[in-house]
Amino acid sequence: MPELPEVENIAQGLRHEILKCGVTRMQVIQPAIIRFPRNWRKITKRFVGDNIEQVARRAKRLIIAFTGGGAILIQLGMTGKVLVADADAPVVKHTHVRIRLSNGREVRLIDPRRFGRVWFFAHLDSVHPDAEMEAAGMGRLGPEPFDVTPKKFREILQSSRAVKTHLLDQSRIAGLGNIYADESLFAAGIHPATPAAAIPPAQADKLCRTIKSILRRAIRHGGTTLLDYRNAYGEMGRFLKMLKVYQRTGRPCHVCHTPIQRLVLGGRSSHYCPKCQPLFQKI
Ligand SMILES: [Zn+2]
Repeated sequence: MPELPEVENIAQGLRHEILKCGVTRMQVIQPAIIRFPRNWRKITKRFVGDNIEQVARRAKRLIIAFTGGGAILIQLGMTGKVLVADADAPVVKHTHVRIRLSNGREVRLIDPRRFGRVWFFAHLDSVHPDAEMEAAGMGRLGPEPFDVTPKKFREILQSSRAVKTHLLDQSRIAGLGNIYADESLFAAGIHPATPAAAIPPAQADKLCRTIKSILRRAIRHGGTTLLDYRNAYGEMGRFLKMLKVYQRTGRPCHVCHTPIQRLVLGGRSSHYCPKCQPLFQKI
């Protein structure tokens, strides 16, 4: 599933291509992907005639906001893509939503396996989310990693859970997934099974810094394409070759040559170097 850097790259591409454009048509080809509202026909008609006011990202979700106050919220699944195409370009299979624009372009949501979700909101207020927005997962999100101070981060870590599991909990800190949690823990030298509250303050500060620097680098390099991820132009991310531990089980650590190990925590795979990432146990 695309994480913060991948969704941010899609948002950047869309901002460049569609900001201020008018919506001339909105077409839902596969209604199964629409989570809200049930009567989406009415709301999609309302968006026609509006301009695109903002393209934003919150956690791993993409938000396209219109001048009339409404918005589309998109959660990309594993095989989901949001592409900008010429309106008369051939429509590929598994295109579920098309938003035609006044500049002759079109935003297309494509998702072969349909793990993605789309919500249409007549009014989007992410500061005071209503029940539907809560249901869309917008009411339980922790702060964005770039907004977290070292002090706040030490507070977030006050938990006996494994730090890896804790970092994936979107209600604590929003936007991290398996790839960047593993990479950040490696860069900070912390074993993924370490109870979050047992991390010494100096290492906690280092983890706070490495999360931000790794996310920034990943954004700069277009995110990570393991298989399906593409940006708004259909291009692959270039961060895969920079991964130090994620999905490198058995291969030598770039620092000490010890084989990278894999461990299942909270039902998710964690990849780590047993030598470079000591387990802190005392709380
Ligand atoms: Zn190592």
